[in-house]
Amino acid sequence: MFEDIPVEVGLVFEGERIRKEDMQIELGGPKVDQKFEIVLVRNPDAIEDGKISIIGPDLKDIPQGSHVRFGLLVEVAGSNLEEDLEGVLERRIHEYMNYIQGVMHLNQRYDIWIRVGKKSYAKGLDSFTDIGKAIERLYRSELALIEKIQITFLTGGDYFESLYAMARERYELRDARARGISDEEVDTFYGCALCQSFAPSHICVITPERYANCGAISWFDGRAAARMDPEGPIFPIARDTCIDPEKGEYAGINEHARKRSMGEVNRVYLYSAFGYPHTSCGCFEAIAFYIPEVEGFGIVHRRFPGPTVNGLPFSTLADSTAGGRQVEGFHGISLEYMRSRKFLCADGGWNAIVWMPKEIKESLTGFIPEDIAGKIATEADASDVLALEEFLKRKNHPVTEQWPDSTQVSTEQSESSSASQFTGAGGQGPVFVAGELPITTGGVKIILKNAKIFAEKVIIRPLEKDGKGGTK
Ligand code: SF4
Repeated sequence: MFEDIPVEVGLVFEGERIRKEDMQIELGGPKVDQKFEIVLVRNPDAIEDGKISIIGPDLKDIPQGSHVRFGLLVEVAGSNLEEDLEGVLERRIHEYMNYIQGVMHLNQRYDIWIRVGKKSYAKGLDSFTDIGKAIERLYRSELALIEKIQITFLTGGDYFESLYAMARERYELRDARARGISDEEVDTFYGCALCQSFAPSHICVITPERYANCGAISWFDGRAAARMDPEGPIFPIARDTCIDPEKGEYAGINEHARKRSMGEVNRVYLYSAFGYPHTSCGCFEAIAFYIPEVEGFGIVHRRFPGPTVNGLPFSTLADSTAGGRQVEGFHGISLEYMRSRKFLCADGGWNAIVWMPKEIKESLTGFIPEDIAGKIATEADASDVLALEEFLKRKNHPVTEQWPDSTQVSTEQSESSSASQFTGAGGQGPVFVAGELPITTGGVKIILKNAKIFAEKVIIRPLEKDGKGGTK
């Protein structure tokens, strides 16, 4: 596509995955604390059009296999460009970087995770300048509003820290704008299909009170994007017939979901993780996951390093959540959605949240209702489900009111020292909820889609060595 760039650039490479063993360098990602990408609309005089700068080591100066702190600043100007468009222009970085052969870009804002593959590096993609050229040209070719653009890559330097802090402030300012507007006050919602290359049946529905899953596009951003590029991936959805105000089901949303998912998704509840939950692509900032043993939800965000209270880390829960499916009890969300009045309101809202990482809990001070905040456990209070159950009982968390005989549950649990038992608190809830549960038997694989399994008791025992090289 571009003769002076050593690798191909095009839509065909979107969705390309680069595994750890095929990676030359990782920029940002979970092993790096500080990473960011940001687009800023500037005064035209402040921009040297076409300039690409690199502060810190370039790709060719970074040893193979390194994980590097990384910042990307894209500054744009144009007579019709407004600050309102920054968030939407910024989300295009995800798309454009993924067009570059051998470059994989995941997530957004302060969570970016980029890999450059060995094969493309060997072909000559060894400088940020080439990546910058591709990004610059794609912006210009797709968005005529951009009259001037300059790009800066940062892998070090004194400027990094201050720019990182500025980016974090700017994200917060953008997010705060839509707070205070209710879904009922507007006549249009917005849909985003940008992630369909990864999750073909997924669209995000962006409303004032339900921020996009990736946390990068507010309702204002959606409005600005749909006006700027009517043929683009963000489109208006009329807020027409409301089928269920509590769950957030609208005829117009169902219609768009059906059309854009080719019939895979026919109904969507905006404010519930059950029934027909909003689909999740893979870019979500956090996951709300149902914990049947206590009949409440845990929350985990992408940055949480350890296993959650149910023993599963973010990555495993993400596998159960992503892909554009509607998986009951597994719900991809943005962090901003947790500040919304509508946050899982059909499932009990904050009264249904039982566990979350301390970092997130602290960042939501003032948004979690005071009467429940002290009743939500963090990793400091409970690291497994039994400890969580004890904590919730001690704090008299609202979910305990649904446990008909909590003493019986804890007695049964204490009877077994070597086995884990999942009864569903009070024996009422499903012991296991999954989008797709494979069962392999007699050479046949059966997949239960969106299955709920009820049982009086489930016992999981660790395998023990039998001394003959096998297990018993
Ligand atoms: S997560 Fe949703 S809003 Fe964000 S880019 Fe993907 S489809 Fe669009």
